[in-house]
Amino acid sequence: MDIKLQEVGFSYAQNTPFEKRALHDVNIAIENGTFHAIIGHTGSGKSTVLQHLNALLKPTEGQIQIGEKTIVAGKKEKDLRAVRQKVGIVFQFPEHQLFEETVLKDICFGPMNFGVPEQEAEQRARELIEVVGLPPAILEKSPFDLSGGQMRRVAIAGVLAMDPEVIVLDEPTAGLDPRGRQEIMELFNRLHHEKNLTMILVTHSMEDAARYADAITIMYDGESVLHGTPREVFSDAEKLAAYRLEVPHIIQFQKQLEAKIGRKLNTLCLTEEE
Ligand code: ADP
Repeated sequence: MDIKLQEVGFSYAQNTPFEKRALHDVNIAIENGTFHAIIGHTGSGKSTVLQHLNALLKPTEGQIQIGEKTIVAGKKEKDLRAVRQKVGIVFQFPEHQLFEETVLKDICFGPMNFGVPEQEAEQRARELIEVVGLPPAILEKSPFDLSGGQMRRVAIAGVLAMDPEVIVLDEPTAGLDPRGRQEIMELFNRLHHEKNLTMILVTHSMEDAARYADAITIMYDGESVLHGTPREVFSDAEKLAAYRLEVPHIIQFQKQLEAKIGRKLNTLCLTEEE
């Protein structure tokens, strides 16, 4: 499913004395099946864009196309359930949204709320608990007896249980140590490839964007200012500095390596050990 933002603008508290224009001239094209990162400094508009991706917010200017649905500024929308089912959001600290008595019930909550029969929802939960790398026995436990990392995986299984086509990740590695970060990002990368899910990563981690994304959009002061592959976007340090961003370490390392061997490498996903 393609997602396209065209000339999107958004103001919080529109037509009140507290009106705040958070987005203007935002153009982003996310192609079906890609891993797309949206990066930018704090306050650049990433979270506001994120909430447009499954119509939690609607544009006050321009339009957004989410698969078959086009949401136009100022036009009333009746049924956005299909959009919400197809675009799942893994919010920051998703574990804070767990609330049921058991992990099984928690994972089943979303799909059952969308009319999936209990037996089918449970079947999905049993498959997904393994997909996110947890043992089946965990389904009978209380989500609150799990470790932080386990809770996060349960929350991700809950989003997958809705059977989305697109997954939006909001700073998914926030609060994790380096090993936890890598494990979670590898999980998303695997889901992207194995389930052919379109991934949209909203982050200020330049390293994660460089390592995993096929395409990147840079946000700066409420506007989408740069688009391209990681190599294109990260090639100009001066431009990045103007957007209050730095060249990620992994790209610096790759450039040094390329200078040393005298040729360009095809892949970007290098680790220092390689
Ligand atoms: P980011 O996610 O990149 O940090 P945000 O989308 O949160 O950026 O914020 C973009 C701008 O909108 C900022 O100037 C921020 O202060 C403002 N903003 C965010 N949320 C609200 C809100 N609920 N009400 C008013 N202004 C907001």
